[in-house]
Amino acid sequence: MSQSQPPPRTGTVYLVGSGPGAIDLLTVRATRLIGEADAVVYDHLIAEGVLGLARADALKIYAGKETSKHSMPQGELNLLLVRLAREGKKVVRLKGGDPFIFGRGGEEIEILFEFGIPFEVVPGVTAAAGCAAYAGIPLTHRDHAQAVVFVTGHLRDGTVNLDWPALARPNQTVVFYMGIGGIGEICRQMITHGLPATQPAAVVQNGTSSRQRVITADLSTLPSRVTEAGISSPALIIVGTVVSLQKKLAWFGARVSSGGQEVRD
Ligand code: SAH
Repeated sequence: MSQSQPPPRTGTVYLVGSGPGAIDLLTVRATRLIGEADAVVYDHLIAEGVLGLARADALKIYAGKETSKHSMPQGELNLLLVRLAREGKKVVRLKGGDPFIFGRGGEEIEILFEFGIPFEVVPGVTAAAGCAAYAGIPLTHRDHAQAVVFVTGHLRDGTVNLDWPALARPNQTVVFYMGIGGIGEICRQMITHGLPATQPAAVVQNGTSSRQRVITADLSTLPSRVTEAGISSPALIIVGTVVSLQKKLAWFGARVSSGGQEVRD
């Protein structure tokens, strides 16, 4: 008589932040878990080369772009994670940046909790931290900003519904994620709610990668500068007087000569 196989022990799902773009900004913990995973379920904003760290025999499943029609519906994706874990697999759910900052990480693990699937969360370098560091824009600075706000600039029905009076306060830095499509409206609202038109503001595209581009201007000129430069997603908007430090502090992609002049490679 053949003995029936015992059901596999439920695997764990690791919700892992992969950082903003540069592969060496992965945490040591993320690198180890990706290398050990039986299945890696990944999003579109994953640093190049990260999947190469997974085992050759690991399942690699693209969950797609959240805003695109070709993405896996969120419900289907949640059930996929549950199914893989129930098969006993060690699952890495890989997210760009940090999973708990505009990454819907909370929603995904709520479902795992409901299904009784064990999970762990591995933080990553969020785009604001990565872009600010690689652009040379400190997000706080004793002379400039005592607070920093991360906010979504995603447009709903063509408008950005945000607490503008709070965002337009002085002495803080505001970082808009997903705001590039609404940059005109964002800059206009910041001025309407009290910031000077000359308030320094920047856009960082593909931050931390070799394709990083940084545009610095002010609230009145940033939208047209961004259009002229053909900047598209992924990009962050940073508003605050800390942006004025970028001229001195930019280091990535530039060698600074002893005279303080920037030399591009
Ligand atoms: N969880 C992610 C954010 C996901 S929302 C994190 O913590 O970073 C996606 C938005 O993040 C993009 O629209 C863009 O505004 C920003 N973003 C992500 N990676 C970026 C990068 N390398 N450079 C600039 N912006 C980036």
